Parts: sequence; structure tokens; C-alpha cells
Amino acid sequence: MSELHKFIFDGEPVRGMLVRLTDSWQDVLARRAKADEPFAGPVRNLLGEMAAAAVLMQANIKFNGALNLQIYGEGPVKLAVAEVQPTLAFRVTAKVIGTVRPDDGLAALVNAQGGGRCAITLDPKERVPGQRPYQGVVSLNGDRHEPLVALSEVIEHYMLQSEQLDTRLVLAADDRIAAGLLIQRVPTAGAANLPGSATARNEDEIGVNESYNRIAHLAASLTRSELLTLDADTILRRLFWDERLVQAEQRSGIAGPRFACSCSRERVGTMLKGLGRAEVDGILVEQGKVEIGCEFCGTKYRYDPVDVGELFTPARDQPPGSRALN
Ligand SMILES: [Zn+2]
Repeated sequence: MSELHKFIFDGEPVRGMLVRLTDSWQDVLARRAKADEPFAGPVRNLLGEMAAAAVLMQANIKFNGALNLQIYGEGPVKLAVAEVQPTLAFRVTAKVIGTVRPDDGLAALVNAQGGGRCAITLDPKERVPGQRPYQGVVSLNGDRHEPLVALSEVIEHYMLQSEQLDTRLVLAADDRIAAGLLIQRVPTAGAANLPGSATARNEDEIGVNESYNRIAHLAASLTRSELLTLDADTILRRLFWDERLVQAEQRSGIAGPRFACSCSRERVGTMLKGLGRAEVDGILVEQGKVEIGCEFCGTKYRYDPVDVGELFTPARDQPPGSRALN
């Protein structure tokens, strides 16, 4: 079962999380295969790592809205998206144009000319009028403009730039599991008494906290194959056997990370109405039906001429109370 573990290190300004997406990740890949639109291996691995990273980031913040991790790619992957709700329900998709080679890494997939971008968007659930989603963007290159080879490095950069937080991240995915380990320095408590001082103090501490450096170093020794094959307890025991690790929270089942898609026939209908009758009729003439596939879950929504007619017919006035019978 897919699971998320939160833990702290007793007496140290360091916290951590471990996520393992198993059945939920296999569900995502199976749907894609069933829709006859399977992703190439390197794209599956990228999306798996993005899903694990996005679940970790969503679980790391107190925010009532969707967290979107997006990569605007230069290379065969033009766009890759992982979206996670506060409930930890997630979905992923990618737009791929061109050939993906079996050994393509991050740079070849999305950063072929060095212009790829990674964006993290927080979209509040109950947006007040005029409020816009928060978005932070980082490049896919390192400090010396070298293309980064791992998504984990991109996210670490983002955390440092936008949150001023030291973060160590290990990510891995195959067709069975998408997993991630996150270790983060907790900003020193009490420094927020004076306005403005918290940030200054926090920035001063970047990279120098000994406890964080020691624990992050241990985390970084976790290999890809260990992350993919070992259970959570074994991973944490092997890495941190000499640390005072305290499990803080575990989420699995319906409270844990799982696949869910928010698409619906109603939403597709609204989208078709937005296109306008002439446009939709044009598709009907050409293809005899209108078929819209959800790019996240593969569900196909089909509209024949009768469905389209109903869609564009204004709802008749209904007598009061009849709605309850529908
Ligand atoms: Zn869907």
C-alpha cells in the first residue's frame, strides 16, 4: 500500500519524510497502458519521481489547495505535470513529442538546450476574487549553468531559493514503485520574535547547521536500488540507526497518497460549450462523434450528435423540487 512517513530527530532542528507510491503508482501506469498511450520508460521514471517529490512537498506545507509540479521541457518531453491535493491524492501526465531513447536522462528529456524550467504552483482551493496562484520557477541548471542530471537537485535548488531551506532529497522510480526521501532543516524556533529577523537568521544558517549536515549526508548515501526495494522501516533503520529518530506520523490507505483524477463528464461538457457549437459541430461532421480523453487518467468521454444537441440546448425550466429527483 502507498504510504507516507513523517519523522523528526529528537532535539535536532531536522525533520524528514519518506514516501512510497506502490499500488497507486502501478494504477497510474496501468490506466495509461489501457488507454493505449503508454509512456516510454524514461518518461515513466521522470513522472514517478515527480509524483513522489510533489507528494513530499505537499505533505511538507500547510496549504489548502493543489500543489502542481511542472516541467516545461526542451527535448521530447514538452510538459510534465504532477498534481497533488491536500488529501495527498495525486495525478500525473506528460506531453511528449518526438523520440525518447531508452537511456535518456533528465537533461536529454527536458533540458536539451539548457532552457528547461521547473515550476511549482500553489493554487488555493477557495480563491478570493483577484487572488492568483503562487508560483516559483527554477531552471534545470546548476550554479555553473551545467544541466542538472537529477530531479532531486532541481527541487533542492527550489527549496533553497524560494524557502531558504536546506533540503536533501533522494528520488527513484521504476514500474513498480515511485519513492522519495526528504530531509530538511527546520528554521530555528523563537527567531521570529522580531519582524524580519527570522529570515535573516535563517539565511545565516544555510549550509552550516552541523546536525542537518550530518543527517543529510546519511540520507544522501541511500542508493536508488535501496529506495526502490527496501521497506520504510528498513530504510530508516539502516540510514539513521545512530540518530534519535522519532516517527511522527504515518499516512496510508484513504488518508495516504493515492491516485485520483478530478475529471468528469460535466467538466468536459463545460469545455465543449466553451469551444462553441460551430466548432463542435465541425468535429461531428468530420468524425461522426466527439471524443475527449482525459490526459491524466485516460478516461474517454464520448459525445454523439444527440449528446451534443443536449449539451447546447438550454436547460428547460423545471418545477421547484424536481431537481431532487434527478
Ligand atoms: Zn481524468
